[in-house]
Amino acid sequence: MGLLNFDSMTETGPAVKLPEHVVGLRCLVCGKLYPSGRVGYVCPHHGDEGILDVVYDYARIRANIERNPHRLDGAGMWRYSALLPLRDNTCLPLPHVGATPLYDVPGLAGALGLQRLWVKDEGRQPTGSLKDRASALAVAMALSAGFDTITTASTGNAAAALAGMSAGLGMKPVIFVPASILPAKIAQLRVFGAITVLVDGSYDQAFDLCLEASRYFGWYNRSTGFNPYMTEGKKTVVYEIMEQVAQAGDVVDSIIVGAGDGCILGAVHKGLQDMLALGWIEQMPKLFGVQAEGSDYLYQAWKTGADVYTAPPIHTHGIADSLMAGLPQDRLKAMAAVRSTGGAFIRVSDDEILEAIPTLARGSGVFAEPAAAAAYAGLVCAVASGQIEQGERVALISTGSGLKDIASAIASVDRESQALLRCSPDLSSLQNVWQGTFVV
Ligand SMILES: *Cc1c(COP(=O)(O)O)cnc(C)c1O
Ligand SMILES: [Zn+2]
Repeated sequence: MGLLNFDSMTETGPAVKLPEHVVGLRCLVCGKLYPSGRVGYVCPHHGDEGILDVVYDYARIRANIERNPHRLDGAGMWRYSALLPLRDNTCLPLPHVGATPLYDVPGLAGALGLQRLWVKDEGRQPTGSLKDRASALAVAMALSAGFDTITTASTGNAAAALAGMSAGLGMKPVIFVPASILPAKIAQLRVFGAITVLVDGSYDQAFDLCLEASRYFGWYNRSTGFNPYMTEGKKTVVYEIMEQVAQAGDVVDSIIVGAGDGCILGAVHKGLQDMLALGWIEQMPKLFGVQAEGSDYLYQAWKTGADVYTAPPIHTHGIADSLMAGLPQDRLKAMAAVRSTGGAFIRVSDDEILEAIPTLARGSGVFAEPAAAAAYAGLVCAVASGQIEQGERVALISTGSGLKDIASAIASVDRESQALLRCSPDLSSLQNVWQGTFVV
């Protein structure tokens, strides 16, 4: 390990030096505010459950941007570096992350009775999911702190993102994934050259092992929920959404996204809070988290009013692998996002998720993996139940590419009556199968 550039190694990890526009890190359990450079990943009084939130000095951020408007000129997500916990000199020679398209899809909106529906296509990120936003920031922070090894637990996408974002930077990624990881995701890890540990157990067990290993070996730990900066990387998605919608002269009433660990949901909330504080938006949209039937911890807790600090883990199963979290690591932030904005958690079945894959694809041109299509399935439910009202303007985040899980994609269309055509390579053979298929 090289020369480490953080203030101190605390019992809860490295206290990485933060820029002056960060006031400190606040524990979401006890509310204690730790000044920058004093604390590691989590609150020392609350251990691994003491999730921290980065607190900004918004007056200073506003002044910094006014003094130097070019601060908002960076490429992709680095456009927002003035609102990230990065020091000015942090070097970011990483693949192009962020600046993904937002599609206005009037056909789907009309079918659902919405005034507007936008789909944010995060499948267009370098490694095919929204996780690139978090992993890019993790690599930048680990590099600036002088680490040469970075680790994460993941169901697959965060791992692929970390492996991809580490490429070419001399940063060694060590990945802990459940052995059930999908083939496309393991292929990404191996091609990017990550040291990959297949854990014979659940994602939650891989998470615990990664945490133990990172402490034992002294690696930088990117794991979702535990590392407070992942929220900060992911929040850039909502800056983009709000800017893209504003450019179209419109406003968002509700935002809907799949939820596993709940980090994306908490990050969307954080980004919107930043924008409100800076006067960039006027109203907080309602936030909706969609969970899979086989991984519904947050939905259950929301429904029953249970305290997510103490509610025990559940067992998980289902096709939306990216949503499988028995004890959602960012449950405190996710619950606050939904409760404080007047949104809801929605629960969808695997069948509803499969049905959503071709519907979303045909209505928007966005090919989504199950966890991403779940957001559309959840939107259908929320509209049917009246939780999202007729005439609303909704932004849906499609979090990952359908190419990540082609088995589910094929399963989603195998259920349809329209079969594939097959013929010999001549016109009369085509005419035969054509006439047998369609009545013209
Ligand atoms: C990680 C992920 C999610 C869920 O995000 P959480 O922060 O775990 O709630 C949804 N969709 C995709 C494609 C993901 O990779
Ligand atoms: Zn605390």
